[in-house]
Amino acid sequence: MKWLYLQRCFRRVAFAFFLLTVVSCGQAVRNTGSFESYVEAFEKDAATLNRGLTVNYIEIKFGELNDGTLALCSLGVGTPLITVNQSLWGNLDETQRQLVIYHELGHCVLKKGHANQEIRIPGQRIKLSIMNQHPLDLTDYLKFRKDYLNELFNSSAGRSI
Ligand SMILES: [Zn+2]
Repeated sequence: MKWLYLQRCFRRVAFAFFLLTVVSCGQAVRNTGSFESYVEAFEKDAATLNRGLTVNYIEIKFGELNDGTLALCSLGVGTPLITVNQSLWGNLDETQRQLVIYHELGHCVLKKGHANQEIRIPGQRIKLSIMNQHPLDLTDYLKFRKDYLNELFNSSAGRSI
């Protein structure tokens, strides 16, 4: 008698878990259009640096942004959205484009805020993070790319949102 009760109870709990799983997981939304290759590269770079991740929830699209903003991550209810400034995108080379999307994925996927620390050496200021509010110097990025990516994927700096 007691066993039967437990069995029923277990079934109810299992069913509740099943419902919860279905409701909470829902359908992954990855709508990246012509930006898909950047998201794939982001996942590959993360894997190379021992930070396995799959971007399941992201939408990336062109739009108009003010004040020379290259791109913007909007986090709120629903799928995180990256809006890319269509009128500026055409002027960027591949490295700059990757940097822009990685920065926004840092906000939208890694939930990082801005990290504006820099080091000053005579005649030079080097930004320490891709999550700097201002775009990185491309020479620095190409020279220290692995360090920048390691900082992006494995450091907790800027993880504030
Ligand atoms: Zn930003």
